[in-house]
Amino acid sequence: MEAVYIHIPFCIKKCNYCDFYSLPIKTAGALIEEYCTAVQKEITLYARELGDSVQVKSIYFGGGTPTVLPARELTGILNTLYASFPVTNDVEVTVECNPGTVDGDYFLRLKDAGVNRLSIGAQAAQDRLLEKMGRIHCWRDTVRTLSQARRTGLENINLDLIYGLPGQTIEQWKESLRDTLSLEVPHVAVYGLKLELDTPWGQARELGKLDFPDQDISADMLEAAMDFLMGAGYLHYEISNFARPGFPSRHNIVYWKNHDYLGIGAAAASHLGPTRRTNVLSVEGYIDALRQGCFPVGEEEFLDRETEMAETIFLGLRLLTGIDQDEFRARFEVNLIDKYSAQVEKLCRLGLLKMSGNRIKLSRKGLFLGNEVFLEFLP
Ligand code: SF4
Repeated sequence: MEAVYIHIPFCIKKCNYCDFYSLPIKTAGALIEEYCTAVQKEITLYARELGDSVQVKSIYFGGGTPTVLPARELTGILNTLYASFPVTNDVEVTVECNPGTVDGDYFLRLKDAGVNRLSIGAQAAQDRLLEKMGRIHCWRDTVRTLSQARRTGLENINLDLIYGLPGQTIEQWKESLRDTLSLEVPHVAVYGLKLELDTPWGQARELGKLDFPDQDISADMLEAAMDFLMGAGYLHYEISNFARPGFPSRHNIVYWKNHDYLGIGAAAASHLGPTRRTNVLSVEGYIDALRQGCFPVGEEEFLDRETEMAETIFLGLRLLTGIDQDEFRARFEVNLIDKYSAQVEKLCRLGLLKMSGNRIKLSRKGLFLGNEVFLEFLP
């Protein structure tokens, strides 16, 4: 197990498009402290179960909005992790934060506790779009948050942007990219909006009440991001992720390589050997389970070899370097190209996959049609 994810399921308020598990912090009250205590208990339970067989290379606080917690709660969790697991000297420790929830003093306390990477949810450069999304911040807050972080010496910073928003024009998207480039952060993630029905925007779309850019415009937006960011010297290393050399997200690479990770917190998922565990989807249920000294598992799934191979392929193809066939053979004792000859042949013929030395990768066309490629490998 190389990576630990800690889910902090609280936000200032719910955004209109979000289906991540999170509660408005105002309604959480006393649960917050109890939740942080439960998180520390879960860490110690897993430390006992997994023993010294792990080397943690990455710790990631996601949410929700981890930075709505008092800094002492986050650093307390981090210290419990350090005390419970062997951690590499150069461990990457990332905290997701939203503009408007942090200040310089907060960053300083995180940095002193070992946090060395931030992921800031900027999302767009237009205040009107941000307001429509239900975000609590404006673009000026993003700029201020970034400079406060930098003043404390935190330099390894990602900015998240979203495209495909209702009413968003390609010109606005390009403006968001230009404004982001002007901030010179070493990592940028660009996500196409995906909506679930149980969100206000998901329902509005069902009822035809909101206009979303069509698929062609969304593809143009991804293409514009590739042109802008690669033109500015960023490495496009995953479908949605761009980094300066030396700054790809170590944590997310663990997911894309389908390696083992531990998920701590309500609704967090773990991949441990041939097992996927998802924790209970309720803060109260999570706290109760840990009060009784039990693992707060909501669902457990055994991943058979076929499923593991398929997931390794479609996660690995998200990386622009693709899949190393030697690594695949060493892991599964089977030749990828033999096992999936029909799929690989078909996708190469359609121009969606390409071979490069011993690697199999998405072509440029395949980057825009990733889901069609991934479906071919499902068991
Ligand atoms: S801040 Fe992030 S996690 Fe919280 S509601 Fe908004 S999108 Fe969801």
